[in-house]
Parts: sequence; C-alpha cells; structure tokens
Amino acid sequence: TLNEIIAIMRQLASKKEITIRSNIEENMNLLYFTKDKFKQMMINLIDNAIKYTPKGGKVEVNAYQNKNQLQIEIKDTGIGIPKEDIPRLFERFYRVDKARSRSAGGTGLGLAIVKHILQLMNGKIKVESELGKGTSFILFIPITTN
Ligand code: ATP
Ligand code: MG
Repeated sequence: TLNEIIAIMRQLASKKEITIRSNIEENMNLLYFTKDKFKQMMINLIDNAIKYTPKGGKVEVNAYQNKNQLQIEIKDTGIGIPKEDIPRLFERFYRVDKARSRSAGGTGLGLAIVKHILQLMNGKIKVESELGKGTSFILFIPITTN
C-alpha cells in the first residue's frame, strides 16, 4: 500500500531529520498500489523530495480521489526548481544544476521513469515550484478497474 511505501521512505528521511507527513484518503481505488511500477514511481518522487530538501525540512504526501481521478501530491520544503528547468525535468539524464546534482548523487533518470510509468496509466503530472521554498509534484491518474 501507499502507506507501506511511505513508511519505508520515512526511515530514509529520518537520517536527514526530514519528517514525512501523509494524508491518504481511505475511500479510494487502491488497485494501483499493489503494482511494482506504481511503487517505483512513488519511490522516485519521494526520494527526490528527500534528496533536494535540506536537513530538518518537511515532505508531505497527500492522496485522494477527485471524481474519476486519483490525485497524489508530493510536496517538499526543499531547494526548489528554476522555472526555466521545469519543462526539461522529465528528459532522461536531465539534472537541474551539475553542482547540486553531483553532491546529491544519482543519474537523472528518476523523473524520466516516472513519466514513462505515468504514460502507461494514462496519467498526467503537474509541477509547481518556488526557488528556495519548495516543490510540489501532483499526479493525476484516471481510475480504472484493472
Ligand atoms: P536519480 O533519480 O536518477 O537518482 P536525479 O534525482 O538527479 O537522479 P531525477 O529524479 O530525474 O534525477 O530529477 C531530475 C532533476 O530534477 C534533479 O537532478 C534535480 O535537479 C531536479 N529535481 C527533481 N525533484 C526535485 C525536487 N523535489 N526538488 C528540487 N529539485 C528536484
Ligand atoms: Mg531522482
């Protein structure tokens, strides 16, 4: 379940003194949450939220049903993303700033994988970010019965 994924990510976050709050609506279609791909997508997004948030920051995961869509928000109080970089974030190997990326480790594939998995689910993603304040990724996934 999504709560189990978050519980695992909390252990990672606690090493950086980052707290993860979550609001997972109970009454929604949970089929996705059993799928490995869904799990991979959530891990990539929460991993970024932790990685690009300084020590002591906060990460929030909210999930709820809105009409025929599942909406999942991953919010952080991190370093933010410059506006001009947002359109390229989902490209393979794209990383915002070499200096900060090198210190954080990684390959720049995480969000390309997220985009790919979302396409399989016919989902969409929206990014809102303010430099120095934080970032929010919002997933919109149509609810299906399989
Ligand atoms: P990998 O995920 O392969 O370990 P990565 O995290 O650098 O490496 P992506 O997950 O694809 O790669 O993210 C691309 C870039 O977008 C990152 O390098 C980072 O600069 C920026 N980014 C992603 N998520 C956030 C976030 N929550 N806050 C700030 N910047 C972010
Ligand atoms: Mg990443």
